[in-house]
Amino acid sequence: MSHRVEVQVPNIAKYNGSVDIECEMLVLGAGPGGYSAAFRSADLGMKTVIVERYATLGGVCLNVGCIPSKALLHVAEMIEKTQSSNDLGITFSEPQINIDKLQAHTEKVVSTLANGLASMAKGRKIKVVRGYGNFLDPHHLEVEVTDGKGQNRTGARKVIKFQKCIIAAGSAAVHLPFIPHDSRIVDSTGALELNFVPQKMLVIGGGIIGLEMATVYSSLGARVDIVEMADVLMPGPDRDAVRIWERQNLHRFGKIMLKTKAAEIEAKDDGLYVKFEGGNATAETMKYDMILQAAGRIPNGNKIAADKAGVIVDERGFIPVDSQMCTNMPHIFAVGDIVGQPMLAHKAMHEAHTAAEVAAGTRAFFDALVTPVVSYTHPEVAWVGYTEAQAKKEGRNVDVARFPWAASGRAIANGADYGFTKLIFDIKTRRVVGGTIVGPSAGDMIGEVCLAIEMGCDVVDIARTIHPHPTLGETIGLSAEVADGSCTDIPPQRKK
Ligand code: FAD
Repeated sequence: MSHRVEVQVPNIAKYNGSVDIECEMLVLGAGPGGYSAAFRSADLGMKTVIVERYATLGGVCLNVGCIPSKALLHVAEMIEKTQSSNDLGITFSEPQINIDKLQAHTEKVVSTLANGLASMAKGRKIKVVRGYGNFLDPHHLEVEVTDGKGQNRTGARKVIKFQKCIIAAGSAAVHLPFIPHDSRIVDSTGALELNFVPQKMLVIGGGIIGLEMATVYSSLGARVDIVEMADVLMPGPDRDAVRIWERQNLHRFGKIMLKTKAAEIEAKDDGLYVKFEGGNATAETMKYDMILQAAGRIPNGNKIAADKAGVIVDERGFIPVDSQMCTNMPHIFAVGDIVGQPMLAHKAMHEAHTAAEVAAGTRAFFDALVTPVVSYTHPEVAWVGYTEAQAKKEGRNVDVARFPWAASGRAIANGADYGFTKLIFDIKTRRVVGGTIVGPSAGDMIGEVCLAIEMGCDVVDIARTIHPHPTLGETIGLSAEVADGSCTDIPPQRKK
């Protein structure tokens, strides 16, 4: 059974004007939520239109998020490997960084994927309308046509009449109000443009996006300071995992100011002058060549005239949906960043499929038990389901099995013996309820733990599954053996 959202409906508008395009399914936004929703809708037989303000499909994730950041993190890793290979008997000379080529590399990665999406949309006969969409009423959307590289409005407008709609308009970076407009102060989109490598850089915000970009810029030679209002970096995973990341990374950063905020920024010709306030604020004003604002993202719910369609938007800009991704209007669905946390591409894509399937008349639900989170820093930190801290907070009776990578042949061979794999089990059922992995390729491996949770695997299922040796993935099986008391790759375990 779906649970409809019980809230006050806004004043619904009524549009009686002319119509340029009619469709069965309108998808607003072409990010991972939008294109997945549109492709699935078309595959299920609906005449589908996508409205997207930018020139390419793919949204934040493909154009200015997941993909370009990983292209740069890959380069950062290559640089780091050349620097740490001395101990292995291989010495490289100082890397020479050609920014133009680096930018071209990132652009090529993005355009390859964007072209792929465009041709897949064409193959499905999906009409893509370029422009800024705003609802006129529950069945009409006005598109202010845009052109060029950005979202320049041409003045032309089109009206689309739709039977059903999936809103996938995503989110935008938070811009702190006291921060001046200056080309040296960027959000993640500006940082990914990689216009220059500063000597001294400040990252405001110690979440995943801030830390990934800090990793890239420090590998390219910038001295990076990080300021974070909370008392921890990378909130979310267990602290033992973050401590490992810290140990591997502290050398690359200048100051890490926790419980501190950037209180005042003055942009002068010779630099950006920042005053800090809080627990670890510097006494003196600090000067930077570049500042990255990575202080979170806000949903775009208030920017699409959703009220005219009768769709409720909450006070933060999120659109409430039920377990079928349906808004309070039965024919309008919403998916992705605009419906809530975690703001992650893989969550958006799965929600999108559910919405399209429900719209096509299938009895589908978004009932994933867990959504994995990965920080693609060096090392990577990946976690899913319960963390130890969360289990403890909720008083859940769990067992924790940890396999140190210092006992993994492959991790030692790869110079990654600092990592670990940890599984969390329910004591009574022995089912896996969570997992955390720290080390290279942690993000690639966490999928096995997701599958284990979704399938209700218990310790023995994983422990008796033969994992290939020697691999980092093997550490998941070995963690399960630790929980099972049957692991022979570590010293004898104390009997419980
Ligand atoms: P979006 O990708 O935001 O797409 C929304 C689309 O709607 C946009 O193309 C926008 O132009 C369009 N739009 C909005 N309003 C209108 C309108 N009125 N008219 C027309 N078009 C409109 N997630 C991960 O899972 N893994 C990662 O590694 C990862 N890395 C990231 C790195 C960075 C730097 C950033 C910023 C984000 C990252 N994310 C990552 C998050 C991920 O990008 C988002 O969760 C994902 O893009 C959300 O998809 P979406 O479809 O909901 O929205």
